Amino acid sequence: MRIRIPRKKVRERFLLIYELEGCQKATDFLTECYGVRRMKIVPNGRKVGNGDSACYIENKAYFTKRGLNKRTVLHELYHHLVDTKGLELSETMEEKDANSYAREFLKLSTSSRFLTRKA
Ligand SMILES: [Zn+2]
Repeated sequence: MRIRIPRKKVRERFLLIYELEGCQKATDFLTECYGVRRMKIVPNGRKVGNGDSACYIENKAYFTKRGLNKRTVLHELYHHLVDTKGLELSETMEEKDANSYAREFLKLSTSSRFLTRKA
């Protein structure tokens, strides 16, 4: 992976902000940590198309209603990081990396367990 997953403290803070203040605030926190410009979250399924749950176009991430979740937000954020850092990746490679980034980010985070709501 070309972009490093942030340290534990940052990941936990992201999850906490996500739960308490929402996905835009949480994303703003992460882009600030990486020192890149913000990524705007736009809930607009019509922009997405192709049966996908989200897509990234020039500093904006578009989501369908079902697609708006932590994993997809982190996936699209990876595209944003690649874009703002000007990394040259093939489309397939970037897609693979974005998936691993989101998966590893959430796997490594213990607080997702402790944040899970009890019924
Ligand atoms: Zn993607």
